[in-house]
Amino acid sequence: MTDNFDISKLIRPELLELKPYASARDEFSTSSKDITFLDANENPFQSHLNRYPDPYQTELKAEIAQFKNLSPKQILLGNGSDEVIDLLVRLFCQPYQDEILIFPPTYGMYQVVAELNTVKIKTVNLNADFQIDVSKTLNEISNQTKLIFICSPNNPTGNAMSRENVIQLLNQFKGIVVVDEAYQDFSNQTSMLENLNDFNNLVVMQTFSKAFGLAGARLGMCFANPDIIQYLNRIKPPYNVNQLTQDAARKQLKNTQDVQEQINILKEEKLKLKAALKNVDWVKKVYPSDANFLLVKVDNANKRYQMFIDHNIVVRNRHGQPGCLNCLRITVGTPKENAYLIKILNQFKL
Ligand SMILES: *Cc1c(COP(=O)(O)O)cnc(C)c1O
Repeated sequence: MTDNFDISKLIRPELLELKPYASARDEFSTSSKDITFLDANENPFQSHLNRYPDPYQTELKAEIAQFKNLSPKQILLGNGSDEVIDLLVRLFCQPYQDEILIFPPTYGMYQVVAELNTVKIKTVNLNADFQIDVSKTLNEISNQTKLIFICSPNNPTGNAMSRENVIQLLNQFKGIVVVDEAYQDFSNQTSMLENLNDFNNLVVMQTFSKAFGLAGARLGMCFANPDIIQYLNRIKPPYNVNQLTQDAARKQLKNTQDVQEQINILKEEKLKLKAALKNVDWVKKVYPSDANFLLVKVDNANKRYQMFIDHNIVVRNRHGQPGCLNCLRITVGTPKENAYLIKILNQFKL
């Protein structure tokens, strides 16, 4: 399918013709370094932030491209992955007509974004092992299904999706398969970025919000073939990634060794936390996790959630999500925070 993939057939027809907003800095090109900028109505007095940021984040993208071993043309950056999700839904889905397909229990934003854009949602629940049922999925797909969102490692279950299943969907589905890899840095499974050049209908999302420690800066990454990226560039708000965020991300990319050390600590802490949880009599199950959190089945999620709150510990109650009866999602904290959690755990009795 990759050979005769025609992206223009998938995109909302009115967006094919859309003339993007041309920012002041789009309209000229010169090799001079000494330019007098009188084009954008900025305050001319020099400060770190007096100029509009680069709409295409050229320097940051070059560094990300090098880090990920990709071309900058395969990268779109957003104000968090949440903006990327919104851009994808708006690029491919015609309101009132098209639909996305998701696999509950999963990240809530796919549904919220679809609803905001009046795009329909098809759901195929993950199976008992929290994996995708491919044949059920293929049965649910219609001509209106434009996007499939796969979260891997999945939030809130923590497990990575079977690569074989993802590849099967990429091969058999004629629309776009989005793989949200927000937690990839914690996973032992290889990233789908490895296959980016094999599938024109593959979109991979990653973020600076989790392992890279910049949730407050809001920076999401979208990787796809250059045609898709070019269309996304046309519909994105011109200055969607601000200067402070671009600077913070570039600084963090010079620090990847520190980030990797933190990841290693968190992975070790996760194992400790898992062992401690398994010893607690009201903990029924700790699910396998490729992420920086654990999904834990307890005797009574509402009761245990409240017990944690009473000790000033906030976890996420996922009771009520499909397949997550009496489940709490616990993020791995610092060694000190985890030690406190474990201390409290051992005080709670049946
Ligand atoms: C946390 C998370 C994100 C990150 O979203 P940002 O907008 O980049 O902060 C994306 N996807 C999933 C599944 C997440 O859990």
